[in-house]
Amino acid sequence: MSTLKAVRGTRDLLPPETALWNRIEATARGVFARYNFGEIRTPVFEDTALFARGVGEETDIVSKEMYTWEDRARAQSEKTQTLTLRPENTAGVVRAYIEHQLGETGQLQKLYYIGPQFRRERPQKGRYRQFSQIGAEVIGPASAGSESPLRDAEVLEMLATLLDELGIQGWTLHLNSVGSTADRARYNDALRAALLPVAPRLCVDCQRRAETNPLRVLDCKVPEDQPIIDALPVIADSLDEDSKQHFAAVLAALDAAGVPYTRNHRLVRGLDYYTRTTFEFTHGGLPPHGASSAGTPVLGAQNALLGGGRYDGLSEMLGGPRAPGIGFAMGEDRLVLTLQAQELAAPQVPQVQADAFIAPLGDARDQAALAAINAAGLVLARELRHQGLWIELGDGSFRLKKSFEAADKCARQIVILGEDELKSGILTVKNFSTGVQTKVPRAELAAHLCLI
Ligand code: AMP
Repeated sequence: MSTLKAVRGTRDLLPPETALWNRIEATARGVFARYNFGEIRTPVFEDTALFARGVGEETDIVSKEMYTWEDRARAQSEKTQTLTLRPENTAGVVRAYIEHQLGETGQLQKLYYIGPQFRRERPQKGRYRQFSQIGAEVIGPASAGSESPLRDAEVLEMLATLLDELGIQGWTLHLNSVGSTADRARYNDALRAALLPVAPRLCVDCQRRAETNPLRVLDCKVPEDQPIIDALPVIADSLDEDSKQHFAAVLAALDAAGVPYTRNHRLVRGLDYYTRTTFEFTHGGLPPHGASSAGTPVLGAQNALLGGGRYDGLSEMLGGPRAPGIGFAMGEDRLVLTLQAQELAAPQVPQVQADAFIAPLGDARDQAALAAINAAGLVLARELRHQGLWIELGDGSFRLKKSFEAADKCARQIVILGEDELKSGILTVKNFSTGVQTKVPRAELAAHLCLI
């Protein structure tokens, strides 16, 4: 029989790697709390129309990458629906904002999420079909200050703080403004006109985009197209006075806070809902150990750690009230890859080990005695774990040699628990790093094990 494997583009995450995932999530939660964000959890699947309307029919995500199915009605009272595994979380958050009338509070909503997203992309390093995003949104009525450039700057400053606290080295913030809907329409016209004479020299995808959604031409990665695209008009020249001032205020606040950035005229982002500020944080690669310049790229072609921007019209596009907002999504898988590569280049984290391994010593032939010593082992492990110690529990059927071998692999000390120890209440403890063996009264055991 053929063995079953995880589906292409999906992965199992195993210990010890999962410890790194947890560390990243704990750091993110800590930073979000300090900036007064609360957690939102939306469903993993939604009505397909949410993404078609919110993300945009013409985007790669909606046109090619969504996992969509007909969900058949199970009862007369139900309708057959077309559902989709979420490819991103912003549309779901804004749907929830509208559904729960969060705008009625009159307050800014500052919401973060951590969870899986699904896109049928071509899998490669740093690009999976199920991947995890850590993201946040700031959304609310304009009267709550949701349109203010200060919100943009605060989100970007928070991201710089988060990446620094995670220990990501060598990130770059790329920043642009795609203006208001009217600015974008103007820019679209300018771009369409400029593309007319050059489109036949561009790749097939760009030829299509030149007609359907010219802005997307700027996302093209085909090397031969780059000189032509670089010569196209830039969006900064199509911004009206309000959009220009908004962007200038974002940059001024970032300068004041000392957050470094580079302006990138081609950063228009793949999703249709963005207005004004758009941004991406990339990782350029690891400096070779001890050197200061950028070296091998960790993420290969997939060097974007996170992306985001302002989406002032999204709530209205989804049938809700006017609710300007700004948000971002970080690729957690890519944070993990980057941190793993950094730790390989300069190992800092010592291997994590249990405080002690408890070795119950029994007689495998005497089932009753074995059960009794194993139960005593569980009681001792429970006592120590309740006192905050990290304990691995062996098995009374192991010979002493096997217990030592097992303990040496996963713990810093071994505690022997045989009949004699149980009766006397004096336990034998061996410390693997010093090689010292000590007799310790049970009442002092937790304190003794903590000492190393
Ligand atoms: P997006 O929602 O496309 O703006 O993506 C935001 C971030 O999510 C990107 O910068 C990546 O770090 C991450 N990301 C997007 N797609 C994938 C994927 N297929 N696999 C892993 N990470 C992804």
